[in-house]
Amino acid sequence: MSGKPILWIIIPCYNEEEVLPITAPQFLHKILDLTAQGLISDKSRVCFVNDGSRDRTWQLICQFAQQDPHYIGISQSRNRGHQNAVLAGLMEAKDQCDVTISIDCDGQDDINAMDEMVRKYLAGAEVVYGVRSRRDTDTFFKRFTAEGFYHLMNLLGADIVFNHADYRLISARVLEHFADYHEVNIFLRGMVPLAGFPSETVAYERHERLAGESHYPLSKMLGLAFDGITSLSNKPIRLITGVGLLFSILSFIGVVWAVVLGVLGSTVAGWASTICIVCLMGGIQLVCLGVIGEYIGKIYMETKARPRYIISERTWQPYERKYHG
Ligand code: UDP
Ligand code: MG
Repeated sequence: MSGKPILWIIIPCYNEEEVLPITAPQFLHKILDLTAQGLISDKSRVCFVNDGSRDRTWQLICQFAQQDPHYIGISQSRNRGHQNAVLAGLMEAKDQCDVTISIDCDGQDDINAMDEMVRKYLAGAEVVYGVRSRRDTDTFFKRFTAEGFYHLMNLLGADIVFNHADYRLISARVLEHFADYHEVNIFLRGMVPLAGFPSETVAYERHERLAGESHYPLSKMLGLAFDGITSLSNKPIRLITGVGLLFSILSFIGVVWAVVLGVLGSTVAGWASTICIVCLMGGIQLVCLGVIGEYIGKIYMETKARPRYIISERTWQPYERKYHG
């Protein structure tokens, strides 16, 4: 690396017209500030990824791009979800810069942690994870479910950093290798550690959203958790096999017991117990089928290998365009 590193801040935006006018200047200010400190090159950029917003988000991004050359924007052809939007930004950036930092656009993550991230990068770390130091601003429910999620993930063998979401620095060198991970079901915070390379963490405080509303209701959070587990671990399937085995042994013992009772002439009492067992077994089998089905569904999606994002518009031109307009 010669000279100062070029930093791209990657910011996914979905229906964020309320908060963008507040946070966009903060990101620009951070770039200018880091440049003034002599930490990064002035070719650094704030890159917004519009994730198929239905409001004026993309128009706002285009306006920013006209106001200051540090702002650039790319737009996905439709809404593909947070993880895909971040991935689109990272892949756009990897050939243009030396290092990226991904962050949400709602001002919840403290952008001042970027200074330390960049310093750790300059000191040799290729990945720097932003880790929340406190969860005071979360409701008890969110805190409980979120922390439970990290423990569950680790229990199931997925190597994820505790209390780290999607605020992280990744060097272009790591991104180059990361581009070889072709999976369609993506869960970035679980996949980045898989790529290896020296990593560090930086603690930061997470605040309330500055404006607008969260796009992660409970159903989406559960979806993300489930995706995370199934895309990183085969343990649920092992567990099912284990439970199946246990119940097979139990039922074998039950059969022996019934035969012995039958031979001894005692009547086997209880319709209730029979029904209970039938229902229990039925339930367990359905759950097991569901989990296995989930994996098969994922395999189905992976074999199609559909594109993970499609960029339909840009405020800048990374290469010679093949098409008119
Ligand atoms: N986001 C996105 N696509 C989506 C949903 C969200 O790009 O389909 C972006 C959103 O604009 C924000 C980030 O992902 O920058 C995190 O979303 P949000 O703040 O709603 O989630 P929370 O912080 O409440 O978990
Ligand atoms: Mg948020």
